[in-house]
Amino acid sequence: YSNFAAALENTITPPVKVEHTQLLINGRFVDAASGKTFPTLDPRNGEVIAQVAEGDAEDVNRAVAAARKAFDEGPWPRMTAYERSKILFRLADLIEKHNDEIAALETWDNGKPFEQSAKIEVPMIVRVFRYYAGWADKIHGMTVPADGPHHVQTLHEPIGVAGQIIPWNFPLLMLSWKLGPALACGNTLVLKTAEQTPLSALLVGRLLHEAGLPEGVVNIVSGFGATAGAAVASHMDIDKVAFTGSTEVGKIILESAAKSNLKPVTLELGDKSAFIVCEDADVDKAVELAHFALFFNQGQCCCAGSRTFVHERVYDEFVAKAKARAVNRSVGDPFKSGIEQGPQVDSEQFNKILKYIKHGVESGATLQAGGDRLGSKGYYIQPTVFSDVKDDMLIATDEIFGPVQTILKFKDLDEVIARANKSMYGLAAGVFTQNLDTANRLMRALRVGTVWINCFDLFDATIPFGGYKMSGIGREKSLYSLSHYLQVKAVVTSLKNPAW
Ligand code: NAD
Repeated sequence: YSNFAAALENTITPPVKVEHTQLLINGRFVDAASGKTFPTLDPRNGEVIAQVAEGDAEDVNRAVAAARKAFDEGPWPRMTAYERSKILFRLADLIEKHNDEIAALETWDNGKPFEQSAKIEVPMIVRVFRYYAGWADKIHGMTVPADGPHHVQTLHEPIGVAGQIIPWNFPLLMLSWKLGPALACGNTLVLKTAEQTPLSALLVGRLLHEAGLPEGVVNIVSGFGATAGAAVASHMDIDKVAFTGSTEVGKIILESAAKSNLKPVTLELGDKSAFIVCEDADVDKAVELAHFALFFNQGQCCCAGSRTFVHERVYDEFVAKAKARAVNRSVGDPFKSGIEQGPQVDSEQFNKILKYIKHGVESGATLQAGGDRLGSKGYYIQPTVFSDVKDDMLIATDEIFGPVQTILKFKDLDEVIARANKSMYGLAAGVFTQNLDTANRLMRALRVGTVWINCFDLFDATIPFGGYKMSGIGREKSLYSLSHYLQVKAVVTSLKNPAW
């Protein structure tokens, strides 16, 4: 790993200033009611980037009151759909204008490569907001051919005040997947960002208001899960909650929603995605795609291809090449160009990943590459590859959420289908084959919400995303996301003269 040493030295000063650290409530940046703040840290070295207002239950109450007023009295749900659409288009333009500033904040707070933030993620959220801006004036009900002398129609109405809780791995992308459909449908909302990555959302919040969003429609509360997050999930005046994060917390959210006001819940949770390399694979291409599927975003993806199943005919060659690819992965300061991997988000994730690596070694898997931290400061981890992994090892069952590839051998399709499906999760899977019958078979047999065939991590705004089993409830992006933010009202009108 000598080629990494230089990339870790001379920490680059991020090309951005932190302008917003307060909560965004009712269109204004304000301190937390308690006056408390918490530090958000630079994962490259653990140093404090900024002190951020720490919202708790009282601030969530203030934010919900503002959102409620904006929904009940404000112009937003009653504005013409075209007006709402124009505001979302203007937001997309403003984000595009501030692309590099937003991307730099995201990288600084999260540790992901700046090139990824600036060239992939910020452009992706622009696309998401334009996609939903386009939907705003295309949401409408139906007329229904009911029996009897009645005119029956359905109205698609906004659900009300949405509570949205997002994680730290894709702060901006998760914000856009949540805000986009909620706003297009005419809702107001309270967004609780992850405590590790509060900064980029606050800048987007300011741009929303520059774009003409009325006050109180979007409220952003930075803070912790057990306080601010729990207050959102259990709030009596929030009409719907959407959550992305761990399955463990997803269960708590569902329980809190049930125990408070039975608000509908959508969840996007963890996974242990299978990436299946079939016997006909071009091994070089399969290695590259499987590497991307796992290591992208420091391995911190809910759908990371973290169980790499490889057919026995190509297994040995695959393992050797996967090892070589991991050793060559460029890890370093995410602000440097050409860097593929930055630090993990924080010390908690860093320590958890190192613990899993230790488990892997102790349970008898073969450590092919990596296995340790990189450098002596910050949360960098060597790209790690295990072969000879067995299905019941912890590294093959638990979500590691780090740069640790686990390679498992299989003999035939029936076997790999059964093994891939033997998981409590069901978010996504990858299939690598040129054989149409194999692709068709796997695509139908895998119990997951997304199957990528000869590709991976395609997150276009038009494609639905969500989980089977314990990976979640509901779908984000695409037209499927809209139904989670709408109520359907049936209106039945008696006809005076049924025969016209
Ligand atoms: P988490 O589920 O604890 O946190 C996600 C969000 O939920 C954060 O905003 C957090 O503040 C909030 N939260 C935490 N506890 C809460 C509670 N009791 N009530 C309401 N909100 C609460 O995730 P994490 O601790 O940041 O990471 C733990 C693991 O979760 C990761 O290692 C990974 O396996 C998984 N994870 C999955 C995703 C995903 O996209 N599916 C994202 C992040 C983390």
